[in-house]
Amino acid sequence: MKWEDNVRKVVPYVAGEQPNMSDMVKLNTNENPYPPAPGVAMLAKQMDVEKLRLYPNTTAEPLVDALSEYYGVKKSQVFVGVGSDDVLSLAFLTFFNSDKPVLFPDVTYSFYDVWASLYKIPYRAVPLKDDWSIDANDYKAENGGVVFPNPNAPTGLFEPLEKVEEIIKANPDVVVIVDEAYVDFGGESALPLIDKYENLLVVRTFSKSRSMAGLRVGFCMGSEKLIKYLNDAKESINSYTMNLPSQVLGVEAVKDDRYFKDTLEKIINTRERFKKDLTRLGFTFPDSKSNFVFASHKTVDADQIYKKLREKNIFVRHWNKDRIRNYLRITIGTDEEMDRVVTALEEILSVR
Ligand code: PMP
Repeated sequence: MKWEDNVRKVVPYVAGEQPNMSDMVKLNTNENPYPPAPGVAMLAKQMDVEKLRLYPNTTAEPLVDALSEYYGVKKSQVFVGVGSDDVLSLAFLTFFNSDKPVLFPDVTYSFYDVWASLYKIPYRAVPLKDDWSIDANDYKAENGGVVFPNPNAPTGLFEPLEKVEEIIKANPDVVVIVDEAYVDFGGESALPLIDKYENLLVVRTFSKSRSMAGLRVGFCMGSEKLIKYLNDAKESINSYTMNLPSQVLGVEAVKDDRYFKDTLEKIINTRERFKKDLTRLGFTFPDSKSNFVFASHKTVDADQIYKKLREKNIFVRHWNKDRIRNYLRITIGTDEEMDRVVTALEEILSVR
């Protein structure tokens, strides 16, 4: 059929499943086990539905204002989107427009190659080193742009700011995107570098550290020029990306810094405790600074553990892909949830 020749075809990204069972432990999509800040619930209950009659603010101004104040950057340096996927996808479309390949790690967020394919952006997946770290020298080749998460996903490994800056410094002629979806869990942000490098875009999300995956709020910070180009592209696709409840509830989440920091501390403590259990059970893993651990067992196949955990209604993520086939990505939940995982692993590995 002729018309099909002109269809923009793509093999889509596969998101982690969203099972809904009463007694499950859901550790497969890096969600936060704690609820959003208490003020968010209060405001949601008081929301004036009559206001939904009108279109929302096109640039999510209240949320941009709150974020600019919180991070100490100008309002003109902040852009908000429908989750960081929306921000990243728009950034790919806007900034990666060259015949040269965009570079990103071979083991990384598996949406990058999907956006590149959809927008017909040439790309090259650069192999990570055996210890899963990035070799900055690999990013000194000619390219059409650079993107990587820090900490990386699904490895959880954090690259020091000096290495990030080395990569940015080597690439003054393209846009460098640092995807900091997990940085609040222990990494160091590249945010202080945005005034030094006009071509650096730092992307963040409310989905993980702010417990609001369901609200779909992401944002990025960069030079005024980058943000202007993003706004121009967004205004050329959809004027009203951010719905009113997201804008209002997002502001409320940013206000409660105490709750934000307390929640992060709890997750980090649980993660460190869980690492000890994993080591005791014979797993190895890169030293995660995110809200998940990427673990491989010394003798038992990941696929087998994955299936047996599922039988116990414990959901983690496993990819049947080169290099990472023998790893499980396990999100950090509450202490109680991780205890249940540890007990299940002890049974599966017959160490009880
Ligand atoms: N970047 C990375 C590295 C991620 O793991 C995710 C979560 N799947 C995202 C971006 C997107 O998250 P969200 O759209 O919920 O902000």
